[in-house]
Amino acid sequence: MKSVGFVGWRGMVGSVLLNRMIEENDFSKIIPHFFSTSQIGQNGPTINNITFKNLKNAYNLNLLEEMDIIVTCQGGSYTDSIYSKLRKNNWNGYWIDAASTLRMKDDSVIVLDPINLESINQAISHGIKTFVGGNCTVSLMLIALGGLFKENLIEWIYVSTYQAASGAGAKYVIELLKQMGSLYNAVSEDLSNNFYSILEITKKVTKIIQDNNFPLKNFSVPLAGSLIPWIDSDMGTGQSKEEWKGQFETNKILNSKNIIKIDGICVRISSIRCHSQSILMKLSKNVSLKNIEEIIANHNTWVNLIPNNMQETISKLTPSAVTGTLNIPVGRLRKSSIGEKYFSAFTVGDQLLWGAAEPLRRMLNLLTNI
Ligand code: NAP
Repeated sequence: MKSVGFVGWRGMVGSVLLNRMIEENDFSKIIPHFFSTSQIGQNGPTINNITFKNLKNAYNLNLLEEMDIIVTCQGGSYTDSIYSKLRKNNWNGYWIDAASTLRMKDDSVIVLDPINLESINQAISHGIKTFVGGNCTVSLMLIALGGLFKENLIEWIYVSTYQAASGAGAKYVIELLKQMGSLYNAVSEDLSNNFYSILEITKKVTKIIQDNNFPLKNFSVPLAGSLIPWIDSDMGTGQSKEEWKGQFETNKILNSKNIIKIDGICVRISSIRCHSQSILMKLSKNVSLKNIEEIIANHNTWVNLIPNNMQETISKLTPSAVTGTLNIPVGRLRKSSIGEKYFSAFTVGDQLLWGAAEPLRRMLNLLTNI
C-alpha cells in the first residue's frame, strides 16, 4: 500500500475530501499520514474511530520525502514554498494539489476524470507526477456542459458566476457569518415588534454594513447584504485571474486544438457553499433545444436537467438544494432571443465536491490502483 501524506486536511477542501474518502472507504487502500503547518504534534483527524496522533510538520522535507503520494489542500503559498524544493531533492512521488499554482505548468495535468480520463491515463503512463484540481467554476461548468464540449458544439461561452463564500476558504465563511450576525443583531428588537418601520430597519442595516466595525478582515469589504464583483488577483487586462482561468483551464483540460473562447464576470455572493453560473453560449451549428437537452443529460452520471419552469427552477437549481451533493443540475436552458445558435443555461454545483475535493479523491484512487 502506498504512503499518502495529507496537508491541508482541516481546511474547507481538505475536510470535504476526508469526508468523501471515509464515505467511499478509500482509507482502507492507503497508509495515511497527516501533516500540519500550524498544529504540529497535536491530534489529527479521527477516521473510523481511530484518531491520528502527532501531526507531522508540513515543512519538514525529510518527512514529506517518505511519502509515495502527497495530497495538498493547503493553498498556493504552501505549494510555492515546498513543491520545487521536493523536486530539487529528486523526490519522485506523486503530487496532488487543490491550489492553482502548478496548473499552468507544462508537466502538470489538470484533473477532471469524467472529462479528461484519457489524458490523465496517458500522463500517468508517460511518467507525469503532478496532478492538479481545476478551478472550481471551470470543473463545474465542464461537468454541466460536458456533452456539448464532447460534441464540439461550443463556439464560445460568456458566463456570469455567483460564487459562495466558502470558495475563498474557512476564514471567509466565518467572517460572512459574523457579518450576517451583526446585521441581525442590529435590528432583532425591531423585527420582534409587529409595528416596525421597514425604512428604519433598512437604514439601520445599511449603517451597520457601512460601519468601520463591520467584520471585514478577510473580505475587506461587506459581503452580507452586498456582493463583490471581483475574485482573485488583477491580470492587468481588465480581467480578474478567476475570469482568466475560465478559458485557459477549460482548454487545457479539453486539450483543445482550437481554443474555445470563454470570458465572463466572476462575482462573490453570500451563499455559504455552491457556485452558480449563468451562461450564454454560441454553438457552432444549429441544434434543436431537445437535442441539446439530450446531449447534456446523457454525458455523465452527475449532470441532471431541470425543466425550464419556475417551480422546478426555484426548488432544484439553487445552492441550498445542491449543497453537499455531487449533483450538477443544469436548467434555464433555452434558445436565446439573440439568435438561432445562442443558448442560455444556468447551473449550480458544490464547489467543494466536484469543484475541488472529488477530482482529487478520484485522482488519488487512480494512483493507488497502479
Ligand atoms: P482553507 O479553508 O483556508 O484551508 C487552508 C488551511 O488553512 C487549512 O489546511 C489550515 O491549515 C488553515 N486554517 C486556518 N484557519 C482555519 C480554520 N478556521 N479552519 C480550517 N482550517 C484553517 O482553504 P480551502 O478553501 O480549503 O482552499 C485550499 C486550496 O484549495 C486553495 O489553494 C484554494 O484555492 C483551492 N480551492 C479551494 C476551493 C474552495 O471552494 N474553497 C475550490 C477549489 C480549489 P493548518 O491546519 O495547517 O493550519
